[in-house]
Amino acid sequence: MKFGDYECFSVETGKFAIDGGAMFGVVPKILWERKMPADEKNLIPLRARSLLIQGKGKNILIDTGIGDKLSEKLKQIYQVDIDSANINMSLSKLGLTCSDITDVIITHLHFDHTEGSTSIMDGKAVPTFQNARYYIQKKQWEIANNPSARDRASYMEENFMPLEKAGVLNLIDGPQEIFEGIDIIVTNGHTPGQQHPLVKDKTRSLFFCADLIPTSAHLPVPWHMAYDNFPMILIDEKQKLLARALKENWILFFEHDPYLAAASIKQGEKNIEINSPVSI
Ligand SMILES: [Zn+2]
Repeated sequence: MKFGDYECFSVETGKFAIDGGAMFGVVPKILWERKMPADEKNLIPLRARSLLIQGKGKNILIDTGIGDKLSEKLKQIYQVDIDSANINMSLSKLGLTCSDITDVIITHLHFDHTEGSTSIMDGKAVPTFQNARYYIQKKQWEIANNPSARDRASYMEENFMPLEKAGVLNLIDGPQEIFEGIDIIVTNGHTPGQQHPLVKDKTRSLFFCADLIPTSAHLPVPWHMAYDNFPMILIDEKQKLLARALKENWILFFEHDPYLAAASIKQGEKNIEINSPVSI
């Protein structure tokens, strides 16, 4: 699907599952399970969905999702499935390989967004996209290198330190137009220095929600994850960005939604709601 000068494609990197309580924070299960049913272990099926932005001689990948370095124990905890879909399979459907990626924008360094950034070669982790520059917000980089006890487990060095070692890391500071026609919007509520690409188009731009709105069920402002580090900041950011999205006719891209990759939105009676799915 085309946005401005770029063709955009959803790129699945794998499936995983997370505890429903953690996904919906203070929202009672009796409410969230109507929208997103959990299994007998209370797990909700999720996707790790990246976005390929192709145009102006570039193949830009947003987030790298699940890779192949997780331990068996973690794979089991998160019910990781990279057999039915993974980054190599998804890129090959688009006629690409990892070496065709020119730029990788990482929204933040929690493992389900960046595990695929590196792969094991001859026993050590190296950049998976060997011809790409990787873009990360400076603030997020500092946090990943000095994490708090709260989300330390989500920051695994092998997913980002090899990028610095290989000299492919570009630390960027704050919101900016990163490439012609692609803006970076920064939020700080889920984790400081989370960045969201906005592919600009005159009539409807494409916004990469990342963990600000991980699934379509998280559109109501108070429906947010227990993983969010600064909930009050997140609520304020979500309110403002959703108002802007509505006004500017944005299509929202949901990285973790099990069923819906992208959608247009409308003002509902109480909350902003899905208007119609957009296939991408
Ligand atoms: Zn996250």
